[in-house]
Amino acid sequence: MEITRISVYQVDLPIKAGAYKWADQSFAAFDSTVVIIDTDEGISGAGESCPLGPSYLPAYSEGVRTGIAVLGPDLLGEDPTQLDVINHRMDTLLKGHPYVKSAIDMACWDIAGKAAGVPVHNLLGGSFRDEVRLFRVINRGSPDEMVAELQQLRSEGYLQYQMKVGDDADLDVRRIAAVCDELLDTETLAADANTSWKTHEALRVVNSAEGRPLYIEQPCATYDECLRVRQHTNLPMILDESMTSPDVVIRGAADGAMDLINLKINKAGGLTRSRQIRDLCVQLGIGMTIEDTWGGEIATAAIAHLAHATPPGFHFQSSPFHEYNDVTIADGGPVVSAGHMRASDGAGLGVTPDFGVLGAPVVVIS
Ligand code: MG
Repeated sequence: MEITRISVYQVDLPIKAGAYKWADQSFAAFDSTVVIIDTDEGISGAGESCPLGPSYLPAYSEGVRTGIAVLGPDLLGEDPTQLDVINHRMDTLLKGHPYVKSAIDMACWDIAGKAAGVPVHNLLGGSFRDEVRLFRVINRGSPDEMVAELQQLRSEGYLQYQMKVGDDADLDVRRIAAVCDELLDTETLAADANTSWKTHEALRVVNSAEGRPLYIEQPCATYDECLRVRQHTNLPMILDESMTSPDVVIRGAADGAMDLINLKINKAGGLTRSRQIRDLCVQLGIGMTIEDTWGGEIATAAIAHLAHATPPGFHFQSSPFHEYNDVTIADGGPVVSAGHMRASDGAGLGVTPDFGVLGAPVVVIS
């Protein structure tokens, strides 16, 4: 099989609730890129890359599209079902920029699944579960607003939450106390600072929360700062933004820096690299939140397939990004019910892009 055409689409994903707010950031919409890869055998695949705005990681939406325009011509004629070969080729052509490669890799997995006649989770090792446990974000706000958002999410069937903090340590102490007071024994809560505390602020917050049923996520900007915080708290630690590749996961395991990581497909560079990190975490005894840096039905389908194929005890939670958006970009996205989602059993990712929503491609390589 050979790649004959790569088409790139730009689509805005407005936030249903009006805005998505973390640390000192707030966005009313995210700029997503959808990639459609066509082949000489008539099988097409879809992938999606949606950085969480330009200020979250070293990644930005225009860069996705520019990078694909750079890579694309040299991928024509390659076999999309040979996933390691494709990724090696991309790494040879463009150093770094995993967020550019993620959508291409995802589309190739979709093609590989369709060619084999099986869902992507089969190719990722097989499905360990009928449904994937979800968490929802409680947006940064006043303590009362955050408690009210938890109550609303609870009424929708969710049991796991990630509250956004990090813009004001004193206020964060009060936010965490209020939300923890509201939390039921059956519920799970993480406080995610998204790199925003300095270590002295993080230590004040974690000390105030000792004994609470709370996970702390990426308190500070660097790995070493997070490790210092980790060494002074008994609260379970999730590392996210600093967990970008297998080597840092190995270092973190050796240092005892974290109990879980947040594995984002886009941050890793696609499903191929995410599979490697998943397998490494399983061997090292590290749990995983499995998600992405945002996206619609296509990226969320990839999340669901990887989560289905992650062994029991290692999948902590996943995020249903398509539920946050006010637009549907594909049919067949994961079905969400009572705090869980289920990937399609169709071949590949199981999604059908809606070209009425995606519009005309902004780049075509053929
Ligand atoms: Mg996080």
